[in-house]
Amino acid sequence: MYLSVTIISLNEQFLVNNMNESQMKMKKILIVGTGFSGAVIARRLAEQGHVITVIDQRDHIGGNSYDARDDKTDVMVHVYGPHIFHTDNEVVWNYVNQFSVMMPYINRVKATVNDQVFSLPINLHTINQFFSKTCSPDEAKKLITDKADKNITDPATFEDQALAFIGKELYEAFFKGYTIKQWGMEPKELPASILKRLPVRFNYDDNYFNHKFQGMPKDGYTQMIKNILEHKNIEVKLKSIFCKEEADSYDHTFYSGPLDEYFNYQNGRLGYRTLDFEKFYHEGDYQGCAVMNYCSVDVPYTRITEHKYFSPWEKHEGSVCYKEYSRACTEKDIPYYPIRQVGEMELLRSYLTLAEQEKNITFVGRLGTYRYLDMDVTIAEAMKTADLYLDSLNTGNVMPVFSVEVK
Ligand SMILES: Cc1cc2nc3c(=O)[nH]c(=O)nc-3n(C[C@H](O)[C@H](O)[C@H](O)COP(=O)(O)OP(=O)(O)OC[C@H]3O[C@@H](n4cnc5c(N)ncnc54)[C@H](O)[C@@H]3O)c2cc1C
Repeated sequence: MYLSVTIISLNEQFLVNNMNESQMKMKKILIVGTGFSGAVIARRLAEQGHVITVIDQRDHIGGNSYDARDDKTDVMVHVYGPHIFHTDNEVVWNYVNQFSVMMPYINRVKATVNDQVFSLPINLHTINQFFSKTCSPDEAKKLITDKADKNITDPATFEDQALAFIGKELYEAFFKGYTIKQWGMEPKELPASILKRLPVRFNYDDNYFNHKFQGMPKDGYTQMIKNILEHKNIEVKLKSIFCKEEADSYDHTFYSGPLDEYFNYQNGRLGYRTLDFEKFYHEGDYQGCAVMNYCSVDVPYTRITEHKYFSPWEKHEGSVCYKEYSRACTEKDIPYYPIRQVGEMELLRSYLTLAEQEKNITFVGRLGTYRYLDMDVTIAEAMKTADLYLDSLNTGNVMPVFSVEVK
C-alpha cells in the first residue's frame, strides 16, 4: 500500500514537472495583420502549442488578398485589386490546397492599344497582329532582332533595356504609356533591372504566368485565410490598431504593418503607389475577359477588371467591373506598391538601422519589409519565419528582427 502510494505520488510529480516544462515553452505571441503573412505564422506557431493573438486594424481578415461577394451581382470581388495565385513552389501549393479547393484558372490578359485589342504578354499572335504579318517563330525572332536598337550596348534604364530588347514600336505601344501611368515617372527614370528578360514569346502561349501551378480558391481568399486562422490557439481581434505598449505583454511580436509607421514616420514616409478603383455595373458581359490593359497615356486608367471572370466555374447574369488608376500614395491612402527608388532605399536603410535595435519583434510581409511580394512568396517567407522562431526557442538563439534579406 505504502509502496503504491509512493509510486503514484512520484508519477504525479513527474506529470507536474513535465507540465511546467511544456507550459514554460508555450509562448504568448502577438501577430499584427491578418494577411497571408500573419495568418500563416499564426497557424504554424499555434500548431506547436503557442498561444496566438492576431490583430488587424481593418474590420475584416485577409489583408490585401481580401475578397467579398458584391451585393448586387453576387460576383466574388477582389476588393484590393485582382489576385491570381501562381507558383513554382510545390510546398506552398500543397499548403494552400490544404485550406481551400483550388480551381483551375489561367490568367489571359488582353491589351487595348491604338483602337485594337492584342494578347499579352507579347507573343507570336501579338507580333503578327501588330506588324500585320504571318511570321513563323523563327521569322518573328528575326523580325524582333532587326527591330531591337543595337546602338544600346549597356542599357542603364528601363527604356534603354526595352528598346534594346524589342525596339521602338513595341516598346511605345505596350510599355511606355503603361509604365508612365503605373509608376508616375518616365521609363528612362526607372532602372534597367525591372526588365530582366526579353518580354516576348515566340509561340502562341498567352498564359500570363510561367509558373507550374496556377489557380483560384473556390470560395475565395478570405475563406482560405479564415480556414488558416481557425485553430483553438488563435484569437483574432479586428478593428484593433497596434500600439507598442501592447507588445510588452507578449513574448514575441510578428509585425506585418508598415515599417515606417512602426517608428511613427520619424525619418519620413517610405514612398508607395496607391490605387483608385472606379466601380461600374454591366448587364451581361462587359469585356469578355478578366483583365484588359489600356497601354496609352491618353486613357487615364491602367486596366479594367471584370471580376466574374476570376471565377469561371460560377454563372452570373450581371457583371461588376473596376477601372484601376494608379497614383502617388498620400498619408490618407492605402499603400500598395513600394517604389524602392534610390531615395526610398536610403530612407529604408535608416529604418532598418532603427529596427535592428528593437527586441522581441520580427518585421514581416510586404509592408513590414517594404517589398512587393506575391502571395506564394509571402506564404513561403511566413513559413520560414515561423520555423526560425521555433528553432530559436529550441536553440536559445535570438530571433532576428528580419528573417529575410530586405535591402
Ligand atoms: C493590386 C495588387 C494586386 C496583387 N495581385 C497579386 C496577384 O495576382 N498574385 C499574387 O500572388 N499576389 C498579388 N499581390 C500581392 C499580395 O497582395 C501580397 O502578397 C499579400 O497581400 C501580402 O500579404 P501580407 O500579409 O504581407 O500583407 P497584407 O495583405 O497587406 O496584410 C497586412 C495587414 O496588416 C494590417 N495592418 C497594417 N498595419 C496595422 C496596424 N498598425 N495595426 C493593425 N493591423 C495593421 C493591414 O490592415 C493588413 O490587413 C497583389 C498586390 C496588389 C497591391
